[in-house]
Amino acid sequence: MCYKKRPMELFGEKKVLHIKRERQKARELRKSRWWHQKLMEGICYYCQEKFSKDKLTMDHKVPLSRGGRSTKSNVVVCCKECNNQKKYFTPVELELKKLKKNL
Ligand SMILES: [Zn+2]
Repeated sequence: MCYKKRPMELFGEKKVLHIKRERQKARELRKSRWWHQKLMEGICYYCQEKFSKDKLTMDHKVPLSRGGRSTKSNVVVCCKECNNQKKYFTPVELELKKLKKNL
């Protein structure tokens, strides 16, 4: 077994701390003007459809558990349906889906 080859992910305590910190940042981001603006626009990042505020959630393009951060470039508005579906797709597949929709 090769122990040197590790995926680029965070492990153990470091990971827990990272997620905790970024969740806190996400909470602050939710209060920001930037986020409220996004909700007003109401466009889901994945399916590009328009939704009312209560049908939208915050989503991390790169999940916190994979080392993603709560930054404006990693956080998107997403409808609940896409949020549920996302679990079954890799980001690449979702990109493809988005492209097909725009054709
Ligand atoms: Zn959607």
